[in-house]
Amino acid sequence: MGCCQAVFAHTRFWSSLLFAAWLPLAHAGLPRAASVPGGVALLPLAPVAPGNERPRAWLGELPVFVAADGGKWVAVTGLALDTPPGTHELRVEAGGETRHLHFAVSTRDYPAQHITMKDSSKVQLSASDLARVEREIAAIQHLKRHWRETADTDLDFVLPAEGRLTGRFGLRRFFNGEARSPHAGFDIAVPRGSAVRANAAGLVLATDDYFFNGQTVFVDHGNGLISMYCHLERIDVRPGEAIAKGQRLGSSGMSGRATGPHLHWSVILNGALVDPELFIGRPAKKR
Ligand SMILES: [Zn+2]
Repeated sequence: MGCCQAVFAHTRFWSSLLFAAWLPLAHAGLPRAASVPGGVALLPLAPVAPGNERPRAWLGELPVFVAADGGKWVAVTGLALDTPPGTHELRVEAGGETRHLHFAVSTRDYPAQHITMKDSSKVQLSASDLARVEREIAAIQHLKRHWRETADTDLDFVLPAEGRLTGRFGLRRFFNGEARSPHAGFDIAVPRGSAVRANAAGLVLATDDYFFNGQTVFVDHGNGLISMYCHLERIDVRPGEAIAKGQRLGSSGMSGRATGPHLHWSVILNGALVDPELFIGRPAKKR
């Protein structure tokens, strides 16, 4: 769950990515479909019709958001980065019946990123830091699985900060040459003290100060969609507070494990960390 900023990073990598093919834009309101590890599978279910209740869906044990789109119910299914490619199964309950919907997950090769940390204590952890990190991972895991059913959820995000994109989702990361967990978020370089804003409306689920993620805000958008904003310098909201789209949550900084001031933004869908860019109406540009 850690984070990073690729200040040293690799212009060759970025220039190769700049002209990468983009998936076509989704229907208004839905994220772009990407049935890959770290992506979102859009699985059509029953038509929306009077007396036809919203179906319920599960991937494994976790409920999945079912949205209305184009006259159909669609299971907006988050796929964790460690999802094995192959056939997967969504359990759907509708009209008192349960069925199993099979769908394919393809491979995606995410690029590697090498990061140099001057403070090696944030790479080689002491026993006490390791114990703290393990407690925090358990707490974050619990928050990621939070489920609050709402009538609707805004899936058309605004960017939470204005700045240069410095770290895409899914990068396979090496800190001081050592392999660590992949980059499960989206990094935007912003000076300390810049506004960090909610990408969509919701309720503040939690705020905390973590070893890797630093001062962090979780916003619950409903139906298993949650945003996490990390490395803040100041937090201006409290748990339980209702947040409007675009509302200021706090100020950017470099708390936790960060090589420079930036916002690390993660998006969680049915417990899976997924690519935030799929929810942005226009593809992000490196500026
Ligand atoms: Zn990051």
